[in-house]
This record gives sequence, C-alpha cells and structure tokens, in this order.
Amino acid sequence: MQEHTPLDSAQQASATGDMHPEDFRRYGHQVVDWIADYLSSVGDYPVLSQVAPGDIRHALPAQPPEQPEAMEIILSDVDRVLMPGITHWNSPGFMAYFGITGSGPGILGEMLSGALNINAMLWRTSPAATELEQVTLDWLRQMLGLPRPLFGVINDTASSGVLYALAAAREAIPDLHIRQQGMSGRSEVPRLRYYASQEAHSSVEKAGIVLGVGQAGLRKIGVDSEFRLDVAELERAIQEDIAAGIRPFAVVATVGTTSTTSIDPVPQIADVCERYGLWLHVDGAYGGSAAVAPEMRPVLAGCERADSLIVNPHKWLFTPIDCSVFYTRKPDVVKAAFSLVPEYLRNAESMGDEVPNLMDYGTSLGRRFRSLKLWMVMRYFGEEGLAARIREHIRLGQFVARRVDEAPDFERMAPTPFSTVCFRAHPRGMDDEAALESLNERIMNRINATGHFFLSHTKLRGKYTIRIAIGNLRTTEQDVRNLWQELQDALNAELAA
Ligand code: PLP
Repeated sequence: MQEHTPLDSAQQASATGDMHPEDFRRYGHQVVDWIADYLSSVGDYPVLSQVAPGDIRHALPAQPPEQPEAMEIILSDVDRVLMPGITHWNSPGFMAYFGITGSGPGILGEMLSGALNINAMLWRTSPAATELEQVTLDWLRQMLGLPRPLFGVINDTASSGVLYALAAAREAIPDLHIRQQGMSGRSEVPRLRYYASQEAHSSVEKAGIVLGVGQAGLRKIGVDSEFRLDVAELERAIQEDIAAGIRPFAVVATVGTTSTTSIDPVPQIADVCERYGLWLHVDGAYGGSAAVAPEMRPVLAGCERADSLIVNPHKWLFTPIDCSVFYTRKPDVVKAAFSLVPEYLRNAESMGDEVPNLMDYGTSLGRRFRSLKLWMVMRYFGEEGLAARIREHIRLGQFVARRVDEAPDFERMAPTPFSTVCFRAHPRGMDDEAALESLNERIMNRINATGHFFLSHTKLRGKYTIRIAIGNLRTTEQDVRNLWQELQDALNAELAA
C-alpha cells in the first residue's frame, strides 16, 4: 500500500481533525438562537410543506462537496433549501396523524445526547445510559400507574417494539425452537397465528412478515360499534384455528387505535389470553401516555396482565422523535429471543447477569442515549405538568367534538376517548357516499392548502373521515376555534363552487 506523506502541524490542523471548539461555540450559539427563533415562530410557516416532488433534490448539488465548505453557507442552505421542504410537526396547526411535540427540554436532551455520542449497547459502554434508562422507565411506570415488576427498554419506534414482542411470543412457544431452527422446511412446525383487531396499526401486520409467519399469520378480528376488538369473535377465531391444526401464539390489543383512538377491552382480552396460553401485547403507542393524568388511568385497565406493552413518549409525551418505551413482565423471554453475544462484546460484569446489556432485548446493537431527553422532559414538566398538558389536549379535543355534534352539516364518525376527533361534513340531503367522500376530501385539501393547519384522513366502515389530532404543546383554544371556522368556511365554499 502506498504510504502517505505526513502533514506539517499547520496543514494537519486545517486538513484533519474536528471543528475547533471555539468555532463550535460560535456556530452552536447560532444554531441555538436559530432553534429558539424557530420555536417562537413555528406557527407562521405553512404547516404542510408546499413544495413539489423533486424541488428539494433539484436544489441540491448532485455531486458531493470535494472541498470544505463554510459553516455560514451550510447553515444558510438549511434556511434557503431545506426549510421550504419541511412539514412543521412542531407547529400548533399540526393536527394530522397524531399531533406531537419536540419540547424544549427534549430538544436540549437531544443536543447533549449528540455531543456525548455514546452507544448504549452494553452497560460498560456508558453505565449512565443503561441505568438512567432503567430509572426513567421505572418513573414512567409509576406515572402510568402500572405495578412492579416491569422491565423497560427504549426502542426507536413502536413498530420495532411490536416485532420484538411477537418474536418473544414466538420464543415462548415451548416446543418449536424457531430461534435455533427457523420455520422453513420443517413439516413439524404448524401454521402459527396471532390476532389483532381490524383497527390495529399496520406495524402489527408487518411484524408477521418479518417473523416469517406471513400476513396470513395475522387474523384480523372485527370491531364493535365503537371500533373496539370484538372479544367473542376473538375467542371463536382461536377455537376455529386450534380445530384446524393452527397454533395461536399471541394477541395484540390496542389502547388508542390509529384511526379512531378506540380502546380495546384489554381485561377481557387478557382473560382469553390466559385461557389459551397466548402472549398478550398491548399497543399503547398513542393512548398509553394519557394515563399520566390520574383520571385517565382506566385506559390502561388490564395492562398489568399484559406480557408486553408499548407507550411512545415521542407521540404524546412531548419527547422528540425517536423514543418508544417497551415494557415487559417477561424480560427473560425477550432476552432468550434476541440475545446473541459474540466474543468481542463479552465482559466480566455481564457474565453473572449483574447488569443488563440493553442490546439483548432487540435486533439493534447500537443504541442511542434516548433516555436522556425523556428524563429531561419528565423532570422539567414533572408528573403534574405532564398530566396538565395531556388534560388540556383532551379538553381541546372534546371542545371540537362538541362543535361537530352541534353543527347540522357535520357529523362525528367515532367516539373521542382522547384528543383525536373523527368527523366529516354531511350536509342535509347529501347522502350519496361517493359525493360525500369527494366533498370531504376537497374540504381537507382546502384546509391543508391554507398552510394554517394540517389534517389527515382515514376511512371508517368505508366512509371518508377527517381527523383532528391534538397533541402539540403550542396548540391553543384559539387555534382550535380558528380551525373550526376554517372548516365551516371550506364547506360553504365547496357547496357554493
Ligand atoms: N401503534 C399505533 C397505535 C400507532 O398509531 C402508531 C403510529 O402512529 C404506531 C403503532 C407506530 O408507531 P411508530 O412510528 O413508533 O412505529
């Protein structure tokens, strides 16, 4: 190999190494000022980015930079090139999907986590990260009113979490040894099946794809008039499958489904799981956080019997993406499903289970210091502060729901147990479903084009439904009143068009 000529010290300083600490200080102050200005004016941007596909890509050079560029220019390109292509999830007008907040303390936590740049794969690779994760998740457990013992670990997303839960459920099947031997080419492995309602999140189905049980491995169970899993149908399905030689292994219940935020009857589902020896996973990615407000704790009824449970602080606990909490009563089973320790990761303190290595509870080896931002959010707002904020969002959600119920030309499409309202315009005398779908789609597009608000939709029993999902800390009653006025104006404009 060719040997490179050494640089003199001046050349070395400019051609190798990191940004000088004093430059970092200068640009760091600029970036913090930028963030503070952004957070104070985020409501002024069009919530939904108005760029066309390819606009951002075409504004960027196709080739990588060969020579160093000045930070001033890089930062100015953030404003000039990237900001037009940002949809502002931190805006008070963001009410699509689920409203979220990257709060001030959470952003500061992310900044520190970036600076420390630790990888929390093993306890020894930063004991503070593993131990803070355990303490923070035990605090959250207490805030949610869940009993001990409950082992917690933070993943990137609930989608990863449900995959891990179902992998553990598969591992818990006593006689199949799928971890070691796989499933393909084994005639002795029966068809495996797990269950969730038709309203469960798509990640529940995706997990089946990854785990090799296939989409057909998930049997979707019907829902009642309030979009909750029908427990009698669940039990019938399990019995039918057993009679057909299929092996049921898990049920996924949801507290706060994605479309309507319905709450499955977890206590009754837990009864069924216990009767048939099935792993119960509860997806509380959205709704679980509400239990921080004591009067909302009943939404988690029965979850103390779940084998695993997910709550996403990056949805409704004001923590910047990504931060999804995975709890389990059976950490040994999750570990048995995933732990694989090569020589280079072995160390003395892990031999006797003295400390957990959080890499053992999922597929990722590398783990960001995610507990830091959650810890800062929990300390900065406190339990009461978090509860008050959740309560206010629920109040605003109920405020909209009442307006919808009172308006002759709008109708609610589902109950509103949290802060997400499902509704549509339904002018008197217009009953053709295709016309109603087109009308509501046009109303939503009109709202989104104003840039003041961003709404998204779903379909409920085949009917086009607009959703208003309140979860941003900057959203006020005045925003909600303005949105309601804009919706009425949009309906009138569409009817007059
Ligand atoms: N579960 C529910 C009920 C959801 O609504 C969502 C996303 O909206 C998810 C799971 C997936 O969450 P994540 O983005 O953390 O994978």
